[in-house]
Amino acid sequence: MVLSGELFLFTLTVALLGFLIGSFLNVVIHRIPMMMFREWTTEASQFLIEKGYVSESALTIPEQKNAYNLVVPNSACPVCNHQIRWYENIPILSYLWLRGKCSDCKTPISIRYPLVELLTGIVFGYTAYRFGLTPLTGFLLVLSCLLIAMTFIDIDHKLLPDSLTYMALWLGIVASLAGLTIPLEQAIIGTMAGYLSLWSVYWGFKLLTGKEGMGYGDFKLLAAFGAWLGWEPLIVLILMASLSGVILSVTLMATKVLKRGESIPFGPYLAIGGWITLYFQDTLVAWVLAPY
Ligand SMILES: [Zn+2]
Repeated sequence: MVLSGELFLFTLTVALLGFLIGSFLNVVIHRIPMMMFREWTTEASQFLIEKGYVSESALTIPEQKNAYNLVVPNSACPVCNHQIRWYENIPILSYLWLRGKCSDCKTPISIRYPLVELLTGIVFGYTAYRFGLTPLTGFLLVLSCLLIAMTFIDIDHKLLPDSLTYMALWLGIVASLAGLTIPLEQAIIGTMAGYLSLWSVYWGFKLLTGKEGMGYGDFKLLAAFGAWLGWEPLIVLILMASLSGVILSVTLMATKVLKRGESIPFGPYLAIGGWITLYFQDTLVAWVLAPY
């Protein structure tokens, strides 16, 4: 397909925006769990003091006085505290220019930062190319950001923050209400089906084996996809998630990145499977049904 000049310009602009947003997502991925841990620590210690289980003086909690959110403090090297200057913070290019090291203490910077920026740029560009200058593109860009953030937070901490899963869910409901996706009735049935299906699997598995195979965040994430897709495509989604799970686990074990017995959280597979289903469900359904 030949790109018209206008669509090309739009795709390029959105892709460039994606690189910048990807840089912000790196901050989100790092800081949201830290913000949650700070909040939990504060709440837990307040509770213990209020109930009289411990005295305030006996409780030593790490210093939490300074503001810490998605905006402050400025990004700094975790080793030498070197403040990242604006020209050291240009997506992908700065990483290449700094040769992947802190400009001050030469500590290596994780390759994940430029990769998240690259991924976000590609996803943004593709969304713009595929859906054009439409409201749906806007909704899908926000959803993609949430999914990228959730994927890496879950890999790091085995945690899917409510603030992100619920936002994805509400976004799906609003997109349906605005007439951009599926009828509202289907969105609501999809939400319930998504939540309850994994909830049942979780309890079934727990009663049988006494182990927890996944967490409540996974149910909420599948509920969010139900709001976007309705219940039927969720079957394709689970298939895609399981398939990518098997492929990635085998690859990681074969390359010894993952040791035997170690587990990967289910959230990233749901996010990847869901994203693929959302963007390519027609192709996937045709593919699954092809032999019949
Ligand atoms: Zn440094």
